[in-house]
Amino acid sequence: MADMMLHKIVQQQIFEVCKAMGLQTQLEYRGKDWRADVFASNGQSQYAFEVQLSPQSLKKTQERQAKYIRDGIVGCWLFEKEPARQKVELEELPMFKLEQTKNGIIVSLKKRKTLPLDIFIYDFVNDKIRFCHTLNPLPYVEIFFLEMRCWKCGAKNHIYYIAPFRSPCNTLINFDEAMWASDKLAFHPAIVEKIQDYANIEEGKHLQLAPVKTRYSHTVGDSYMSFGCYKCDSIFGDWFVREAVIESWDGNGIVDKLKFKIDFDLNLRQEIPHWCHPGEYDFCE
Ligand SMILES: [Zn+2]
Ligand SMILES: [Zn+2]
Repeated sequence: MADMMLHKIVQQQIFEVCKAMGLQTQLEYRGKDWRADVFASNGQSQYAFEVQLSPQSLKKTQERQAKYIRDGIVGCWLFEKEPARQKVELEELPMFKLEQTKNGIIVSLKKRKTLPLDIFIYDFVNDKIRFCHTLNPLPYVEIFFLEMRCWKCGAKNHIYYIAPFRSPCNTLINFDEAMWASDKLAFHPAIVEKIQDYANIEEGKHLQLAPVKTRYSHTVGDSYMSFGCYKCDSIFGDWFVREAVIESWDGNGIVDKLKFKIDFDLNLRQEIPHWCHPGEYDFCE
Protein backbone atom coordinates (compact mmCIF):
# COMPACT_ATOMS: atom_id res chain seq x y z
CA MET A 1 0.00 0.00 0.00
CA ALA A 2 2.75 2.40 1.01
CA ASP A 3 4.59 1.27 -2.10
CA MET A 4 1.64 2.16 -4.28
CA MET A 5 1.50 5.63 -2.79
CA LEU A 6 5.20 6.16 -3.32
CA HIS A 7 4.96 4.83 -6.85
CA LYS A 8 2.24 7.36 -7.65
CA ILE A 9 4.17 10.22 -6.07
CA VAL A 10 7.34 9.44 -8.00
CA GLN A 11 5.42 8.93 -11.23
CA GLN A 12 3.63 12.23 -10.79
CA GLN A 13 6.86 14.11 -10.09
CA ILE A 14 8.52 12.71 -13.21
CA PHE A 15 5.42 13.58 -15.21
CA GLU A 16 5.46 17.16 -14.00
CA VAL A 17 9.17 17.74 -14.68
CA CYS A 18 8.82 16.37 -18.23
CA LYS A 19 5.74 18.49 -18.84
CA ALA A 20 7.47 21.59 -17.51
CA MET A 21 10.30 20.98 -19.98
CA GLY A 22 7.75 21.05 -22.78
CA LEU A 23 7.84 17.33 -23.53
CA GLN A 24 4.79 15.44 -24.66
CA THR A 25 4.18 13.42 -21.53
CA GLN A 26 1.81 10.62 -20.64
CA LEU A 27 1.28 8.37 -17.63
CA GLU A 28 0.87 4.60 -18.05
CA TYR A 29 1.49 4.87 -21.76
CA ARG A 30 0.91 1.67 -23.72
CA GLY A 31 3.11 0.58 -26.60
CA LYS A 32 2.92 -2.61 -28.61
CA ASP A 33 3.85 -4.97 -25.80
CA TRP A 34 4.95 -2.63 -23.02
CA ARG A 35 3.53 0.00 -20.73
CA ALA A 36 5.68 2.84 -19.41
CA ASP A 37 5.07 4.51 -16.06
CA VAL A 38 5.91 7.83 -17.66
CA PHE A 39 6.40 8.26 -21.36
CA ALA A 40 7.85 11.51 -22.68
CA SER A 41 8.84 12.71 -26.11
CA ASN A 42 10.43 15.90 -27.40
CA GLY A 43 9.98 15.05 -31.07
CA GLN A 44 13.50 13.71 -31.42
CA SER A 45 13.93 11.41 -28.43
CA GLN A 46 11.46 9.27 -26.58
CA TYR A 47 11.86 8.32 -22.96
CA ALA A 48 10.22 5.65 -20.86
CA PHE A 49 10.69 6.14 -17.14
CA GLU A 50 10.08 3.07 -15.04
CA VAL A 51 9.59 3.34 -11.30
CA GLN A 52 10.44 -0.04 -9.84
CA LEU A 53 9.62 -0.40 -6.17
CA SER A 54 9.06 -4.14 -6.12
CA PRO A 55 12.14 -6.26 -6.76
CA GLN A 56 12.77 -7.22 -10.36
CA SER A 57 15.61 -9.41 -11.54
CA LEU A 58 18.30 -8.13 -13.86
CA LYS A 59 17.21 -10.63 -16.49
CA LYS A 60 13.61 -9.50 -16.38
CA THR A 61 14.69 -5.84 -16.49
CA GLN A 62 16.87 -6.50 -19.52
CA GLU A 63 14.00 -8.27 -21.25
CA ARG A 64 11.74 -5.31 -20.70
CA GLN A 65 14.51 -2.91 -21.73
CA ALA A 66 15.05 -4.84 -24.98
CA LYS A 67 11.56 -3.83 -26.07
CA TYR A 68 12.34 -0.15 -25.52
CA ILE A 69 15.61 -0.49 -27.42
CA ARG A 70 13.79 -2.25 -30.26
CA ASP A 71 11.31 0.64 -30.47
CA GLY A 72 14.01 3.33 -30.31
CA ILE A 73 13.06 4.50 -26.84
CA VAL A 74 15.43 5.43 -24.04
CA GLY A 75 14.32 3.33 -21.09
CA CYS A 76 15.38 4.72 -17.72
CA TRP A 77 14.93 2.63 -14.58
CA LEU A 78 14.53 3.88 -11.06
CA PHE A 79 14.78 1.09 -8.54
CA GLU A 80 14.19 1.23 -4.85
CA LYS A 81 16.32 -1.89 -4.59
CA GLU A 82 18.56 -2.46 -7.56
CA PRO A 83 18.84 -6.05 -8.85
CA ALA A 84 21.47 -7.87 -6.82
CA ARG A 85 23.23 -9.34 -9.84
CA GLN A 86 23.83 -6.00 -11.44
CA LYS A 87 27.45 -5.25 -10.53
CA VAL A 88 28.74 -3.41 -13.57
CA GLU A 89 26.87 -0.40 -14.92
CA LEU A 90 25.58 -0.93 -18.43
CA GLU A 91 25.27 1.51 -21.28
CA GLU A 92 22.12 -0.13 -22.60
CA LEU A 93 20.50 -0.08 -19.18
CA PRO A 94 20.37 3.29 -17.42
CA MET A 95 19.47 2.18 -13.93
CA PHE A 96 19.51 4.24 -10.77
CA LYS A 97 18.46 4.02 -7.17
CA LEU A 98 15.47 5.82 -5.69
CA GLU A 99 15.44 6.85 -2.08
CA GLN A 100 12.80 8.47 0.02
CA THR A 101 14.29 10.98 2.45
CA LYS A 102 12.83 13.60 4.73
CA ASN A 103 13.84 16.17 2.11
CA GLY A 104 11.98 14.42 -0.67
CA ILE A 105 12.76 11.76 -3.21
CA ILE A 106 16.32 11.51 -4.39
CA VAL A 107 18.12 9.49 -7.03
CA SER A 108 21.49 8.01 -6.24
CA LEU A 109 24.15 7.36 -8.87
CA LYS A 110 25.91 4.44 -7.20
CA LYS A 111 26.67 6.49 -4.09
CA ARG A 112 28.85 8.85 -6.12
CA LYS A 113 26.23 11.46 -6.01
CA THR A 114 22.60 11.96 -5.12
CA LEU A 115 20.27 14.29 -6.95
CA PRO A 116 16.74 15.40 -6.15
CA LEU A 117 14.37 13.47 -8.43
CA ASP A 118 13.30 16.51 -10.47
CA ILE A 119 16.92 17.57 -11.13
CA PHE A 120 17.82 14.02 -12.06
CA ILE A 121 15.02 13.82 -14.64
CA TYR A 122 15.84 17.26 -15.99
CA ASP A 123 19.54 16.41 -16.35
CA PHE A 124 18.87 12.97 -17.82
CA VAL A 125 16.65 14.38 -20.56
CA ASN A 126 19.09 17.24 -21.20
CA ASP A 127 22.03 14.88 -21.78
CA LYS A 128 23.81 15.91 -18.59
CA ILE A 129 24.03 12.29 -17.52
CA ARG A 130 26.01 10.16 -19.94
CA PHE A 131 27.60 6.77 -20.02
CA CYS A 132 31.40 6.96 -19.71
CA HIS A 133 33.91 4.13 -19.99
CA THR A 134 36.65 5.40 -17.71
CA LEU A 135 36.84 7.30 -14.48
CA ASN A 136 39.11 10.24 -15.03
CA PRO A 137 40.37 12.30 -12.09
CA LEU A 138 39.93 16.06 -12.11
CA PRO A 139 43.24 17.86 -12.61
CA TYR A 140 43.40 19.06 -9.03
CA VAL A 141 45.82 17.94 -6.38
CA GLU A 142 45.01 18.26 -2.72
CA ILE A 143 47.88 18.14 -0.27
CA PHE A 144 47.49 17.17 3.38
CA PHE A 145 50.22 18.31 5.74
CA LEU A 146 51.15 16.33 8.84
CA GLU A 147 53.41 16.99 11.76
CA MET A 148 56.38 14.69 12.19
CA ARG A 149 59.03 14.81 14.89
CA CYS A 150 62.56 14.04 13.84
CA TRP A 151 63.53 10.64 15.24
CA LYS A 152 67.10 11.90 15.71
CA CYS A 153 67.05 15.48 16.97
CA GLY A 154 63.40 15.78 18.00
CA ALA A 155 62.69 18.87 15.90
CA LYS A 156 59.12 19.43 14.82
CA ASN A 157 58.84 18.96 11.05
CA HIS A 158 56.07 18.62 8.53
CA ILE A 159 55.55 16.12 5.77
CA TYR A 160 52.73 15.83 3.29
CA TYR A 161 50.83 13.44 1.10
CA ILE A 162 48.37 13.64 -1.76
CA ALA A 163 44.73 13.18 -0.88
CA PRO A 164 42.63 10.81 -2.99
CA PHE A 165 41.58 12.30 -6.29
CA ARG A 166 38.02 12.87 -7.35
CA SER A 167 36.39 12.29 -10.69
CA PRO A 168 34.09 15.00 -12.12
CA CYS A 169 31.21 12.75 -11.06
CA ASN A 170 32.50 12.64 -7.49
CA THR A 171 34.11 9.22 -7.23
CA LEU A 172 37.12 8.95 -4.97
CA ILE A 173 40.11 7.66 -6.90
CA ASN A 174 42.59 6.17 -4.49
CA PHE A 175 46.14 5.61 -5.47
CA ASP A 176 49.05 4.13 -3.66
CA GLU A 177 52.55 5.50 -3.80
CA ALA A 178 55.21 2.82 -3.95
CA MET A 179 57.56 2.81 -0.98
CA TRP A 180 61.27 3.52 -1.39
CA ALA A 181 60.67 4.76 -4.91
CA SER A 182 61.92 8.11 -6.14
CA ASP A 183 59.26 8.71 -8.74
CA LYS A 184 56.38 9.32 -6.37
CA LEU A 185 53.70 11.69 -7.55
CA ALA A 186 54.16 13.64 -4.32
CA PHE A 187 57.69 14.43 -5.49
CA HIS A 188 56.70 15.54 -8.98
CA PRO A 189 58.64 18.78 -9.60
CA ALA A 190 55.47 20.75 -10.35
CA ILE A 191 53.93 19.63 -7.06
CA VAL A 192 57.08 20.22 -5.02
CA GLU A 193 57.29 23.72 -6.45
CA LYS A 194 53.70 24.57 -5.50
CA ILE A 195 54.35 23.39 -1.96
CA GLN A 196 57.54 25.41 -1.66
CA ASP A 197 55.71 28.49 -2.89
CA TYR A 198 53.03 27.91 -0.31
CA ALA A 199 55.57 27.51 2.51
CA ASN A 200 56.97 30.91 1.56
CA ILE A 201 53.75 32.86 1.91
CA GLU A 202 52.00 34.00 5.08
CA GLU A 203 49.45 31.14 5.29
CA GLY A 204 52.05 28.45 4.79
CA LYS A 205 55.01 29.74 6.75
CA HIS A 206 54.03 27.78 9.88
CA LEU A 207 55.20 24.66 8.02
CA GLN A 208 58.67 23.31 8.67
CA LEU A 209 59.54 21.58 5.44
CA ALA A 210 62.96 20.23 4.63
CA PRO A 211 63.72 19.94 0.92
CA VAL A 212 62.56 16.80 -0.83
CA LYS A 213 65.75 15.19 -2.10
CA THR A 214 67.72 11.99 -2.42
CA ARG A 215 68.94 10.73 0.96
CA TYR A 216 70.70 7.54 1.88
CA SER A 217 68.76 5.05 3.99
CA HIS A 218 70.71 2.55 6.10
CA THR A 219 67.55 0.50 6.56
CA VAL A 220 67.03 0.08 2.83
CA GLY A 221 70.72 0.23 1.93
CA ASP A 222 70.02 2.62 -0.89
CA SER A 223 69.25 6.24 -1.68
CA TYR A 224 65.85 7.49 -2.65
CA MET A 225 63.85 10.70 -2.84
CA SER A 226 62.62 11.36 0.65
CA PHE A 227 61.39 13.69 3.30
CA GLY A 228 63.84 14.66 6.00
CA CYS A 229 64.54 16.89 8.95
CA TYR A 230 64.92 20.59 8.21
CA LYS A 231 67.35 20.85 11.13
CA CYS A 232 69.64 17.82 10.99
CA ASP A 233 68.76 16.47 7.52
CA SER A 234 68.07 12.92 8.77
CA ILE A 235 65.97 10.88 6.41
CA PHE A 236 62.32 10.22 7.30
CA GLY A 237 62.05 6.66 6.08
CA ASP A 238 59.10 5.69 3.93
CA TRP A 239 57.96 3.15 6.50
CA PHE A 240 57.46 5.85 9.16
CA VAL A 241 55.99 8.26 6.68
CA ARG A 242 53.45 5.64 5.66
CA GLU A 243 52.55 4.93 9.30
CA ALA A 244 51.92 8.63 9.89
CA VAL A 245 49.82 8.88 6.75
CA ILE A 246 47.67 5.90 7.69
CA GLU A 247 47.14 7.33 11.17
CA SER A 248 45.83 10.52 9.61
CA TRP A 249 43.20 8.84 7.44
CA ASP A 250 40.47 9.56 9.95
CA GLY A 251 41.44 13.24 9.80
CA ASN A 252 43.66 13.23 12.90
CA GLY A 253 46.93 15.07 12.71
CA ILE A 254 46.29 16.95 9.46
CA VAL A 255 47.50 20.45 10.28
CA ASP A 256 46.95 22.12 6.92
CA LYS A 257 45.65 21.52 3.41
CA LEU A 258 46.47 22.96 0.02
CA LYS A 259 44.63 22.47 -3.24
CA PHE A 260 45.76 23.51 -6.69
CA LYS A 261 45.29 22.76 -10.36
CA ILE A 262 47.90 20.85 -12.30
CA ASP A 263 48.59 20.88 -16.02
CA PHE A 264 50.22 17.50 -16.53
CA ASP A 265 48.50 14.17 -17.08
CA LEU A 266 48.04 12.23 -13.86
CA ASN A 267 47.74 8.92 -15.69
CA LEU A 268 45.20 7.70 -13.19
CA ARG A 269 42.35 6.81 -15.52
CA GLN A 270 40.48 3.72 -14.42
CA GLU A 271 38.49 1.43 -16.68
CA ILE A 272 35.26 1.72 -14.77
CA PRO A 273 32.17 2.11 -16.94
CA HIS A 274 29.61 4.30 -15.23
CA TRP A 275 26.78 6.73 -15.65
CA CYS A 276 28.52 10.06 -15.26
CA HIS A 277 26.99 13.26 -13.91
CA PRO A 278 29.81 15.81 -13.90
CA GLY A 279 27.70 18.88 -13.09
CA GLU A 280 29.89 21.93 -13.69
CA TYR A 281 32.83 19.83 -15.00
CA ASP A 282 33.43 17.91 -18.24
CA PHE A 283 32.42 14.28 -18.56
CA CYS A 284 34.94 11.62 -17.51
CA GLU A 285 35.49 10.02 -20.95
ZN1 LIG B 1 66.46 16.26 13.04
ZN1 LIG C 1 32.34 10.12 -14.36
